[in-house]
Amino acid sequence: MRPARKTLRRPDELVAAGLIPGERRGEIEAVAARYALALTADVAELIDPADPRDPMARQFVPAAAELDARPEEMADPIGDGAHSPLEGIVHRYPDRVLLKPVHVCAAYCRFCFRREVVGRARALSRAQLDAAVAYIRSHREIWEVILTGGDPLVLSPRRLGQVVETLAAIDHVKVIRVHTRVPVVAPTRVTVALVRALRAPGKATYVVLHANHARELTSAARAACARLVDAGIPMLSQTVLLRGVNDEAAVLGELMRALVECRVKPYYLHHGDLAPGTAQWRTGIDEGQTLMRALHGRLSGLCQPTYVLDIPGGYGKSPIGPSYLACIGGANGTARYEVEDFNGRRHAYPPAPLETSDRASSL
Ligand SMILES: *Cc1c(COP(=O)(O)O)cnc(C)c1O
Ligand code: SF4
Repeated sequence: MRPARKTLRRPDELVAAGLIPGERRGEIEAVAARYALALTADVAELIDPADPRDPMARQFVPAAAELDARPEEMADPIGDGAHSPLEGIVHRYPDRVLLKPVHVCAAYCRFCFRREVVGRARALSRAQLDAAVAYIRSHREIWEVILTGGDPLVLSPRRLGQVVETLAAIDHVKVIRVHTRVPVVAPTRVTVALVRALRAPGKATYVVLHANHARELTSAARAACARLVDAGIPMLSQTVLLRGVNDEAAVLGELMRALVECRVKPYYLHHGDLAPGTAQWRTGIDEGQTLMRALHGRLSGLCQPTYVLDIPGGYGKSPIGPSYLACIGGANGTARYEVEDFNGRRHAYPPAPLETSDRASSL
């Protein structure tokens, strides 16, 4: 008989599934008491319990070290709180907002940057959701609404459809973007009905997939992405740089290629955020830059994400290199540069032409 495709939520279920040894159950119970725990059947099937360095286990199976917070880590590492005018909304940049209708995910990444909130805070009530939508409606500068959480694709197609329809009815909202891990961790949730719920006539829907390793792109996950893209929904990806998961050029490159093969354009490679208990996954920024250099020029331009850091304190995301351009003198529009190619060789680039006398005299 085929085993039931059940989501594992309790430490004893992880022991029974052979994902943690029985003697570690006590310590894992302490972790589970503090942080949300769920492994869908799709995730559990991806894990090789015989491999102590399995990159899937490292992302989804809890470990005692998650309770060791470091002094530089913080509960709200990207400063959502500083830009939240009301429950469920984060408005950091003028033209776009995050709308977080739910705080649960289908499966929980152990390194989650919102780990103090996801799986713990309550979903928005009807009244809170109405207030959040009213905020978006009254701020005409909001051009894009980013549904995140939690994972908005855990909502039923009916509820998701209501949210999308309500947003689409707001004139100045032109783009609805959904950040999700569901096509990887619960691909069968991406039904025809769910895909239909994401679309709104006259508005653009984008889906951004969170994926960290090529092995996550199983045939079921690829089929889920294909259902979205075939329906006319462009897909992008975001990857978290994680030690022991994807901090090798070959592994990262294989992921980016697999995404492009699925018609998913790599968008961001996130430097690990300072969430409590996540030091075991965090690399140095120099290591991230070295990886980006390894991808540059050796993989198609389609496979290149932008490496970004969400600046602690709520200042937003910035690209953190590497930079291939060095200024070697001059200023005021006549600066001279050296540009580095993908083999590390440097090439001089001439300064801009001097202003013509016509233009100078017209000043
Ligand atoms: C990441 C983020 C966005 C989206 O940023 P993009 O660079 O447009 O992908 C928007 N708002 C907040 C608060 C964010 O954290
Ligand atoms: S899918 Fe995103 S929000 Fe959910 S647990 Fe993973 S990192 Fe956190």
